[in-house]
Amino acid sequence: MTPTLSNGIAAKQGIAIVSEAVCEAVVGRADAFSAIENVFAAMASGDAYNFPVVREAIGHANALYGFKSGFDRAGMALGLKSGGYWPDNTSRGLTNHQSTVMLFDPDTGQAKAIVGGNYLTAVRTAASSAVSIAHLARPDAKVLGMVGAGHQSTFQLRAAVEQRQFERVIAWNPHPEYLPKLEAVCNELGLPFEAVDRQQLGAQADVIITITSAFEPLLMRDWIKPGTHIACMGTDTKGKQEVDPELLAAATVFTDEVAQSISIGEAQHAVAESKLTAEQITPIGQVINAAHPGRTSDDEITLFDGTGVGLQDLAVASTAAKLAIEKDQASWIQL
Ligand code: NAD
Repeated sequence: MTPTLSNGIAAKQGIAIVSEAVCEAVVGRADAFSAIENVFAAMASGDAYNFPVVREAIGHANALYGFKSGFDRAGMALGLKSGGYWPDNTSRGLTNHQSTVMLFDPDTGQAKAIVGGNYLTAVRTAASSAVSIAHLARPDAKVLGMVGAGHQSTFQLRAAVEQRQFERVIAWNPHPEYLPKLEAVCNELGLPFEAVDRQQLGAQADVIITITSAFEPLLMRDWIKPGTHIACMGTDTKGKQEVDPELLAAATVFTDEVAQSISIGEAQHAVAESKLTAEQITPIGQVINAAHPGRTSDDEITLFDGTGVGLQDLAVASTAAKLAIEKDQASWIQL
């Protein structure tokens, strides 16, 4: 039998290559959910930390390139996700967001796996909001509201509907022509779907996911009913914004990582306007670890600021490498 390294990856000689297609074949939503829940818990207990993010406009092909890295001592994941945004890729038939994860053996520093990161980015981001819904939404939530209908949105929808007994889905997108994509998923899942305006969405939804590239508030505080859980997933850069800062002032705010939440996440605006402080934002790992009660009343608005951290990428990439090797679907190279 092949021996197993401390990070759970088989100690076969060489580097395991795990393609996008293999990631899609081996990593399901439940795998991603537990990888993300575990890494959020490890971050909150001090077992895992992200290293400073590098992100640069490279002055070529209008590209933004960077890398995110970190170490999770609990999950024994060490490595980096490298890639970024190439806006002209669509005309080449390629995805604009490109990412690749490299994993290293924490015991020896040897490269152990190269894992395609595009599908994994979508499932880990969907798992992040799903973890927030699982831990923070009212148990009796029935109506899911989607704001955004781009590439990430269908992944978000599929992961979210598994967390509560949702009876219908309502949605709004600044480009309404994208909405049929969400409707098709709802049809497949047997969930009624309705396109609504933003005020209707706020008045009816028990759980809302925002996943857009907006630079201005799309949902105002007064439109949101008591007891709603909102996962703000689109804001991951300075200047982006999806909701009214007054909503963060009114809500109990949770995040993946406070440092990112206040600098590049949705909370950046409320903090800049002195409507919220970093101390008022709770890492969701504390709720997972039962160090924070999470939602404490049916009327409370809870808001999860999902900024996206490198440790999430390492967590799902480690899962992908482990499963691909177990199922003999990895290719191998030697350096
Ligand atoms: P996409 O380009 O496929 O879709 C963009 C979405 O935003 C669409 O719904 C579009 O209609 C809408 N949109 C575009 N421009 C807008 C504007 N100016 N104002 C309001 N809405 C606008 O992108 P995607 O891959 O679905 O990603 C959506 C967002 O999620 C992006 O901002 C991306 O950076 C972010 N993202 C976050 C994480 C995370 O971990 N938090 C991970 C991946 C992507």
